[in-house]
Amino acid sequence: MKTHDRIYINGRWQPSHSADSIDVINAATEEVMAKVPDGSAEDVADAVCAAREAFDPWSQSPIAQRAEYLDEIAAQLKGRGDEIARSIADEVGMPLKLSQRIQAGLPPLVMASYAKLAREFELEEKIGNSLVLREPVGVVGCITPWNYPLHQVVAKVAPALAAGCTVVLKPSELAPLTAFMLAETIDGVGLPAGVFNLVCGTGAVVGEALARHPEVDMISFTGSTRAGKRVSELAAATVKRVALELGGKSAAIVLDDADFEKAVKATVNACFLNSGQTCTAHTRLLVPAARYAEAAKVAVEAAKGFTLGNPLSADAKLGPLISDTQRDRVRVYIKKGIAEGAELLLGGPDAPPQFSKGYFVEPTVFGRVSPDMTIAQEEIFGPVMSILTYTDEDDAVRIANNSVYGLAGAVWSNDEARARRVARRMRTGRVDINGGAFNMLAPFGGYKQSGHGRELGRYGLEEFLEVKSLQLPQ
Ligand code: NAD
Repeated sequence: MKTHDRIYINGRWQPSHSADSIDVINAATEEVMAKVPDGSAEDVADAVCAAREAFDPWSQSPIAQRAEYLDEIAAQLKGRGDEIARSIADEVGMPLKLSQRIQAGLPPLVMASYAKLAREFELEEKIGNSLVLREPVGVVGCITPWNYPLHQVVAKVAPALAAGCTVVLKPSELAPLTAFMLAETIDGVGLPAGVFNLVCGTGAVVGEALARHPEVDMISFTGSTRAGKRVSELAAATVKRVALELGGKSAAIVLDDADFEKAVKATVNACFLNSGQTCTAHTRLLVPAARYAEAAKVAVEAAKGFTLGNPLSADAKLGPLISDTQRDRVRVYIKKGIAEGAELLLGGPDAPPQFSKGYFVEPTVFGRVSPDMTIAQEEIFGPVMSILTYTDEDDAVRIANNSVYGLAGAVWSNDEARARRVARRMRTGRVDINGGAFNMLAPFGGYKQSGHGRELGRYGLEEFLEVKSLQLPQ
């Protein structure tokens, strides 16, 4: 078992003001795999003070120099890939092979992409007699969730540092270990003291202290809509800038002229990735009413291919959920689906009998789901897919948009122009056309209650910049 008994503040590993610790649980074995400090509001105050002190010199440092640090951090993270992949497989439950590719593979790429962007970004512009400058926002509090724990940290920390901001990071208390690896890496490359600080702990204590703190200029938050609303309320008292990346209930619209088999299979994959614990998961499959039986058959076959297993075993395609709370929540949703009259095509709420330990949930597919059912409206965050039917294109768009969320979605059609037309009508921040691949340079973020602000690429960098205009004499 790994014990972290210190937090990282002002370039030093130091004890927390709190004597308590948080257990990090292995999702497959339910054993305590590590302990981390259960940080306090005093820790936040120390970290914010260090970040404030460090802000002036860091913000004035040449952007090319900041880019060099990011390149160095990216290289070191890449070198620690196996350790990162294994840690997240254990903490979160993602099968190891996938964890290697996504959880460990993506963060160094995103980190390096910001080194490149920093070098290319135009920070000055002339508008008439004005010189418009882009300047760092200041001290940024980053609050992140557990499902892609290092990716979500890097998607904030990399652009914040590139922009010239200083950072206090509060990672998820459920999967905090790779944030410690990042802090060790940052310490190792010799980033100036106070530029990056790590305080772990709970949302209620450390998260809220950050959101409240008057010396924090911006909160970049990823997590549930519930916590995002609370962070916004607290941040409003000091008029902080807030960026929110929240939940989703994304729809995949399969049009009548699509390659049905391919579309339905890909939607099942996009729904079950990371056991459904993905904010952009395509959890609602929308098919023409006349093709329901065909869609249901393909979906069930595809879902059966998601073999449950220990994340470290070679044949596991679906690991456990992160925690007992999350497993119980998902089971309640499955029971609600049945009670509200959806047709259970595969899986169900019962514990898979082959496991005596681990937070496993059967891959579950519901058919004949109507748009107003709870399972069609609320984010489940588990391996549960709902198939809904529509009458025509307008009906499909109406059902897809019938959600408080607006994070992502997909459209499938053999006529790409038609697919794009439908995609433009979807009120979401991302839409994949015919299986278009994830692009780490494209803006990522939500409409409606999926949040505001964008991460990744140039748009992600702009979130951490203020705009100033100098009016010049003519
Ligand atoms: P969560 O909201 O419980 O926690 C997220 C983070 O916020 C954690 O660090 C937590 O400690 C902290 N937090 C909780 N309550 C807080 C409070 N009152 N004040 C300040 N901080 C607080 O979410 P989670 O369970 O860790 O993650 C799952 C959720 O995250 C899902 O809803 C998912 O859709 C969403 N998510 C969104 C994106 C996106 O980019 N849109 C990406 C991943 C996850």
